[in-house]
Amino acid sequence: MDGKALAARIRAEVAVEVAAFERPIGIATVLVGDDPASDVYIRMKHKATLEVGMEARDLRLPEKTAEDELLALVAELNADPAIDGILVQLPLPAHIDEGRVIRAVDPLKDVDGFHPVNAGLLLAGTPGHVPGTPLGVLELLDEYGVELQGANAVVVGRSDIVGKPVALLLLHRHATVTICHSRTRDLAAETSRADVLVAAVGVPGIVTTGMVKEGAAVVDVGINRTEAGLVGDVADDVAERAGLLTPVPGGVGPMTIAMLLRSTLRAARYRTGVLAHPAG
Ligand code: NAP
Repeated sequence: MDGKALAARIRAEVAVEVAAFERPIGIATVLVGDDPASDVYIRMKHKATLEVGMEARDLRLPEKTAEDELLALVAELNADPAIDGILVQLPLPAHIDEGRVIRAVDPLKDVDGFHPVNAGLLLAGTPGHVPGTPLGVLELLDEYGVELQGANAVVVGRSDIVGKPVALLLLHRHATVTICHSRTRDLAAETSRADVLVAAVGVPGIVTTGMVKEGAAVVDVGINRTEAGLVGDVADDVAERAGLLTPVPGGVGPMTIAMLLRSTLRAARYRTGVLAHPAG
């Protein structure tokens, strides 16, 4: 499953809609500290944002920034009419309460979909903003015509950012969903029943050929930096057994950014009243 090609198409579609929108669309990223991986992600997001014709503001605060200062900046961005989407890059330094900062973002501008209001709306089946990676996973499965209704879908990983929202999206599409995690007793027994398998663990090659059903659609969300370069959670030889598989890199990664851009367009529509946010 070629995420790079699909993401390029989605970005081109977003660019057309941005150009036709009644006013400029703006996104702000906030990075506290100088984590090199976060810096790379932010640069990628800015490049993609500018390419689709949105305006991007790159806000950087020193590592020692107090929680209240960060909350004050978030409040400023909430009130700023030129900003449609706010992205606070995680992880935040240990002295800052991440949940408190996430809850401070206006749910309409929460294009990452991390605010409990947006998480709750997804749980309720009336989604507002949904995190980009899970949206990208579903978009890829749809693009390749993977049947979800009634399918056994197994998600390995239960994070708030990937595992849980992916599982909910699959459930809403009428898959029979199993969520696995580090305490799952027999991971291979669960995964080998999967027609659709999503690996979002962060352990290189944890999903091996013997754990995959012949012909399954396998989505590898993992991004792991190893000496051999970037690798996923799925071992290379799974390609011989799976019906469909996403590569790393070039699978889910590019989709995440494309979906984030689409969510920012959606945020601008919420804010201009073209679209009603379900919590409104
Ligand atoms: P996370 O918050 O660390 O969650 C990892 C999940 O995997 C946890 O639920 C954990 O279980 C589970 N797990 C860990 N070891 C396991 C094992 N041996 N067997 C079964 N489950 C196990 O990570 P995340 O943020 O969801 O990210 C997961 C991976 O996706 C990472 O490689 C990350 O870099 C990548 N990622 C990629 C994108 C993208 O754009 N492609 C976006 C976000 C994340 P417990 O809950 O029991 O601890």
